[in-house]
Amino acid sequence: MKNIPPNRFDHNTKPPNRRQNSITFILLSAFIITSIIWFYQSYNSDTDNIKEVPISRIITEYNNNNATLIESDGNTVTLTLKSGDKIKSYKSSSDSLSDLGLYAKTDEVDVEVKDNTSTIFWGEILSSIIPFIIIIGFLFFMMKQIAKSSSSAFSFGKSKAKIFSKNKNMTKFSDVAGLDESKEELVEIVDFLKNPNKYTKIGAKIPRGVLIIGPPGTGKTLLARAVAGEANAPFFSISGSEFVEMFVGVGASRVRDLFQKAKRNSPSIIFIDEIDAVGRQRGGTGFGGGHDEREQTLNQILTEMDGFDNKTNVIVIAATNRPDVLDVALLRPGRFDRRITVDLPDMLARTKILEVHSRNKKISKRVDFNKISKQTPGFSGADLENVMNESAIIAAKKNSKEIKQVDIEKSVEKIAMGPEKRSKALNQKEKEITAYHEVGHALVAHIIPECDPVHKVSIISRGMALGVTWFLPEEDKHLYNETKFKSDMASLMGGRVAEEIIFGEVSTGASNDLERASKIARKMVTEYGMSKKIGPVVFGKKYGGAHLGVDLGTKNNYSEEYSKIIDDEVSALVIEAYKKAYDILTKHKSKLEEITKELLKKETLNDEEFSSFFRPIRKKKTLKK
Ligand code: ADP
Ligand code: ZN
Ligand code: MG
Repeated sequence: MKNIPPNRFDHNTKPPNRRQNSITFILLSAFIITSIIWFYQSYNSDTDNIKEVPISRIITEYNNNNATLIESDGNTVTLTLKSGDKIKSYKSSSDSLSDLGLYAKTDEVDVEVKDNTSTIFWGEILSSIIPFIIIIGFLFFMMKQIAKSSSSAFSFGKSKAKIFSKNKNMTKFSDVAGLDESKEELVEIVDFLKNPNKYTKIGAKIPRGVLIIGPPGTGKTLLARAVAGEANAPFFSISGSEFVEMFVGVGASRVRDLFQKAKRNSPSIIFIDEIDAVGRQRGGTGFGGGHDEREQTLNQILTEMDGFDNKTNVIVIAATNRPDVLDVALLRPGRFDRRITVDLPDMLARTKILEVHSRNKKISKRVDFNKISKQTPGFSGADLENVMNESAIIAAKKNSKEIKQVDIEKSVEKIAMGPEKRSKALNQKEKEITAYHEVGHALVAHIIPECDPVHKVSIISRGMALGVTWFLPEEDKHLYNETKFKSDMASLMGGRVAEEIIFGEVSTGASNDLERASKIARKMVTEYGMSKKIGPVVFGKKYGGAHLGVDLGTKNNYSEEYSKIIDDEVSALVIEAYKKAYDILTKHKSKLEEITKELLKKETLNDEEFSSFFRPIRKKKTLKK
């Protein structure tokens, strides 16, 4: 159990939708205001115990000079008679009192007129309009929701490119750690965008397309954004898969729209992420084929790029982790003829990336990023960002004020091997088997000098694994030789062999190890020409880009005869590794038992605790002091 690939995490977390919240707020307050007005009005009319009369009676009483006070509240008219009684009637709220001939006739009778119509009138209008506003607002809101869930149904043809305008896009080259060669090449692109005249004057053609190639999470998108940020140019970002959606023909029109927008805003950058989604080799590859949507979209991209003239100051940057499947037409000169490869970061770059992502975090001064970098071979930039974030969470959970080394190390473990599953209860026997198994791996690896040093042995379950032995190379490796492969295979066999020596039988826990050992052996024989019997011939036609860790499988292109020889060679290598492990573990059986006992007690042994079993007694004592 080792070199478990780090988990991948999604970095596209959406910010909370403010707009939606404010719409809800407006609707809610409108509703409350309306209900208050309604309540107020009904309250008013219900509390007065006044006799209701026809409006003609009111007018008669007024004309007969029987009134002392006329009050009007919107659509009610209240008359106070000389006797002190009150009568009331209704009128249309648009009629004022004087329309009805009711006004203060001061010279004859002292009649006071209180006409509140105009003020209440507005309240009334509001209260009758607000429900409509609410309904319209609600409909609008619903439409937005629907539009969001199937936006292509409302706006097909419009490109869905996200625009990062000049001031918002703040990514700079300094945010990209490592990748120095790639940055150097991109500095040139920035200069093209900033000073196109410098180049066109002399007759140089500005490149139209840049293809960034590299495994996921290595900073391709980040680099493209940094170019836009440095050039202070708008950045239109779209993902290849967004071109191809519900309706036929949408892709091509989206491309047209996108390029139009970019040209209008030039100098600008179009960024097509995951271009392999549209840029696959056309026809005959068994993926759909024929005149499909993807092909039309791709053709449109090519047409648009060919349509750039000398004055078009738009640069198309595309990213992919599958350059091998790209259509050759994309790679032709005048299209994506510039290619920039980004790779997984090496030790130094990892340190820098960790530093970039600790800028806005409170980190203890004693944290040693070099040490973390050593523990994270094969981690991508995205993984390292995740390591720092996770360590901040771990530190915050403990209520500590700053992130310490242990927090980061814990987070590395979690990301490399999955979270600990302490709840997975193993019975005593299972625990023992797991402990012997893991120590078997570790012990074989420790004895063989070519194996990577043991970093940690643990019988706490993580993910699918019951126990883990974690090796760490002293430095990043780019080349492996036969001895190294054979040594790794022996250490893979160590788990199974330890179980066999101690318990006399093998558990299912070793199956993954065997599979991996066989895989190494097969590669040695068929890919690396490391078998004496067969020699330096490569067998099997590969699909997919093995260099990027994608293996779509191989197709046999050799005879039955050779197939048997290959199988024989592979099994010979596996058996050799098994014997090696067996010899080592029988010779060091007492150590195996000693270390296992300790592991059962502590559940985890770190590198120091593990190697302390091999130090001379005297040295061990001085260390303890
Ligand atoms: P991809 O190559 O898959 O497009 P991204 O550019 O989206 O990868 O990287 C994901 C995240 O990982 C970035 O947002 C950034 O935070 C981090 N990252 C990746 N590479 C680097 C790097 N070289 N320096 C700093 N951060 C990086
Ligand atoms: Zn194992
Ligand atoms: Mg990306």
